[in-house]
Amino acid sequence: MSRTHVPNSDTIEAHLKPPKRTPSGAQEDLLALQQAAGNGAVATILDRQPDAEMAAAGGGDQNVAPAMPGPRHGLVILPELDAIYAAMKAAGHPTRIHTGFRTLDQQIQLYAKGRSFATFKRDIEAAVKAGIVPQATCTEWVDHFDPAKGNRAMPAGEPNEVTWKFDSRHLTGEAADVVHATLAWGASPAFWVALKEAAIAQGLQIGPPSSDLAHVQRP
Ligand SMILES: [Zn+2]
Repeated sequence: MSRTHVPNSDTIEAHLKPPKRTPSGAQEDLLALQQAAGNGAVATILDRQPDAEMAAAGGGDQNVAPAMPGPRHGLVILPELDAIYAAMKAAGHPTRIHTGFRTLDQQIQLYAKGRSFATFKRDIEAAVKAGIVPQATCTEWVDHFDPAKGNRAMPAGEPNEVTWKFDSRHLTGEAADVVHATLAWGASPAFWVALKEAAIAQGLQIGPPSSDLAHVQRP
């Protein structure tokens, strides 16, 4: 079987996201349903959409593995993620990729979140010594946040730090943050237990740290 018939995941994600501009009738119906029946019913309806998309895309190949929606670019763990998507769906948990591949610059900006300039500078300079971050990149970002050189405040945490590494597996496409299709990080504890089991079944792991419940990566 071929993966070439898997429709563009961005298209699917666009349908799963809450309306940002002009809500369509269908989206308004969903919002009304959400208020009337709770998130469970809406999740069930939204969960059907990728299949509908796939049929609409005209692939017609019933054997093509359904693709986990979201930003798939640059990820090398897509077969595992698609298997997790199928297993989670079968258990009643719709999933999507929230974050996949990241550049080093994106990772550095995330690392800055929730940290003081002094801590950020100390850590990124240690990463240079460890051969993880190029000196020129370090200098550029230290200068960027240096209060003595500009007026750029360190970015706020959410509410604390959001990452602990400069060499995250996101940079090699070996990690993705997988969340509930509609509730994101607000999913039930049962969702996260099921995600962990589905990830382990595919040879992947949650975290580190293990408290980073959405982070799925190669061990
Ligand atoms: Zn992650």
